[in-house]
Amino acid sequence: MQSLDILIQNPNLAQPLKDIATKVKDGTRISFDEGVYLYQNAELSYLGVLANYIREKKHGDLTYFNRNFHIEPTNICVYDCKFCSYSRMIKQREEGWEMDVDGMIDILKKYDDEPVTEVHITGGVVPKQNLDFYASFFRKAKAHRPDLHIKALTPVEYYYIFKKAKLSHYDGMKFLQEAGLDSMPGGGAEIFHPEVREKIAHDKCTAEQWLDIHEQAHKLGMRTNATMLYGHIEEFWHRVDHMERLRQLQDKTGGFQAFIPLKFRNQNNQMSDVAEVSVVEDLRNYAIARIYLDNFEHIKAYWAMISRETAQLSLNFGVDDIDGTLDDTTKIYSMAGAEEQTPAMSTKELVDLIKYVKRKPIERDTLYNVVTDYTEHVFEDDVKPSYYKLPVVNP
Ligand code: SF4
Repeated sequence: MQSLDILIQNPNLAQPLKDIATKVKDGTRISFDEGVYLYQNAELSYLGVLANYIREKKHGDLTYFNRNFHIEPTNICVYDCKFCSYSRMIKQREEGWEMDVDGMIDILKKYDDEPVTEVHITGGVVPKQNLDFYASFFRKAKAHRPDLHIKALTPVEYYYIFKKAKLSHYDGMKFLQEAGLDSMPGGGAEIFHPEVREKIAHDKCTAEQWLDIHEQAHKLGMRTNATMLYGHIEEFWHRVDHMERLRQLQDKTGGFQAFIPLKFRNQNNQMSDVAEVSVVEDLRNYAIARIYLDNFEHIKAYWAMISRETAQLSLNFGVDDIDGTLDDTTKIYSMAGAEEQTPAMSTKELVDLIKYVKRKPIERDTLYNVVTDYTEHVFEDDVKPSYYKLPVVNP
């Protein structure tokens, strides 16, 4: 009998938890109140059974990753998010960096002979990096390497850029898509509800603006991701409210690919007095996201943020994607106090990490097309030499 059936038949399980488990088995959506109930009452083991059932129904053992690198054009920012460990305000400019288009292209060129499929671009918001700046970069990047997928910026940057350029969200996205932009990552969502958003990110785009920019991108045929920054001053129902707004937009457009819960880290920011949540809470959160977001194909964990070990564990709690090789090109996680201070993994390391927990490693491109199935792949380093070279004493 499947572990989900065993759960449902357990006479000691509370009736609401049995009802939710039955819904999951039947493929029926759970309600807002049930989402909150799970956060308040469900144990990790229960959540793991439900989330893993959904994960395996959707993807079996397949576990996705991609080969990518980041460009972070600036860490200076006009905004003042309290949880941000990354940005240097305009007044701290001497501690920051601000690239020009050619500097960004130089980084891109370093990967000319590498089999990467994606460049992920994100950073702070500064006046100089405006619509023309990014359009020029996208055009040059595409001219140099047309096959490289450009996944860039978030509604936080776009809202600022389009407002200055006096363009609607739709026209702005269309202009940049025509310049070479392929898709949008999920950042800047934080917690949508104004009760929390106004305390942690009071001056950047609102939930409605964030969601509208994604909606316009979806209308243009772009695929995007969505994040949620959890584990700080929000309550459980704020998290469910956040996911509910995403679920509704996804019903409307179908344009989201992955949901990515981001753990609040408390180093080097204005919220350092807020304690971080435990790994158990991280896993519960992944699992509830997998259960709640029935119309999202993928739940992603950033291994660089939560550690390699927690990423492995998360694969039993609804996660089917652990992001990319990164090549030590992002400072966002390490500056916030993540365990990985120089995040980079070779393809072999990522494949081994996934295989070690008995899942099947699949290298994907940004749109989840399979690039390589590593399930049966043997790396050269894995093959033991059949003879050993003796040292040459007198050459
Ligand atoms: S989170 Fe983003 S928008 Fe907010 S201060 Fe940091 S870099 Fe700026």
